[in-house]
Amino acid sequence: MASSELPSIGALRGQETATRAFRAALVADTSSPARVAGAYLLHGPRGVGRALAALGFATALLCRAPVDAQPCGRCKPCHLCAAATHPDLLVVSAETGPRFRDDGESLRAGPGQFTRAHHAGKKAGPRRGIQVRALRRLLDLLSLSAAAGGRKVAVIDSLDEVEDEGVATLLKSLEEPPRDTTFLVLARDIDSVPDTIVSRCQRVRFRPLAPPVISAILAERLAPEERPRPEELRLVLGLSQGSVGRALDAVRSGLHHEGAAAMTGLLQPSGPVGVEAARDWVQAAGRELAAQRERVRALLALGLLMARDRAARSGTADELESLLPAFSAGLEACDANVSPDLVLHALWARVRRARRLTT
Ligand SMILES: [Zn+2]
Repeated sequence: MASSELPSIGALRGQETATRAFRAALVADTSSPARVAGAYLLHGPRGVGRALAALGFATALLCRAPVDAQPCGRCKPCHLCAAATHPDLLVVSAETGPRFRDDGESLRAGPGQFTRAHHAGKKAGPRRGIQVRALRRLLDLLSLSAAAGGRKVAVIDSLDEVEDEGVATLLKSLEEPPRDTTFLVLARDIDSVPDTIVSRCQRVRFRPLAPPVISAILAERLAPEERPRPEELRLVLGLSQGSVGRALDAVRSGLHHEGAAAMTGLLQPSGPVGVEAARDWVQAAGRELAAQRERVRALLALGLLMARDRAARSGTADELESLLPAFSAGLEACDANVSPDLVLHALWARVRRARRLTT
């Protein structure tokens, strides 16, 4: 999201239950008054709108004159939220930090280091976990009075990535929340959130998005020349598993295009040419082996999807069944940190053997 955009739950797509829950907190209706809870647990898969909803809800909470659950866009808090510099909207994220070298550095950190603007423009590195010292500092800052004299909002993105000690620290704050503070805690799987945390939060569930919603969002976010062709779009939607984040990653990495061409080569008996194309695409991820392995995993998921498609079209599952062990062996090799190059060569050898046995 560009930092000049005003986050709003109105921009949330395909998450009606969540939209209703946040609206109910902001707008009174005939049966219930508006009531903002001290903590919300936004749970669901990554890439379906949890962070967007958290920021949109936070902005409406901080706005001086929200209209029908939407921030007004004209008051000072709205301007600060649009610029991602509101000092009472503190965000700690596994992807963007803040991260501190030691406790001394974290103690010197002011609210500014927890604003989204502080990290804007920096390349989002691999998600590295939320440090307990960053979380402690966030809680210290929340216990001071709000800079603007009103409400304070803390976004924790996400609980799955908080260091173990940090979960206990957070729990203490949820038990005795600082005044006028709202916690927005993101989590993937509610079953992995300790009951003690769940019981102190209002739960808001996020679901995987339907394919038409994902294609509409892709059409909005991608430039015309970036948009996948219809056949490619089908692959992207199949790989997305209901997540816009995954769909965008697939398109931006060229998985639907260069990746698909390489995988087609690998699955056809065209031999090492397919392996070389696959290796080129995998190495384009950069020199880090973890990033390359992610691409190998993406290729394996794509290959499986393509083999399933072919089985559905041909009406026989023989080929698919003969290829399945090759894909699962590939995934196991990735998990065991085998070099991407070796995984691809082994995959090709297994595919070739499977073909000889079935044809
Ligand atoms: Zn406003």
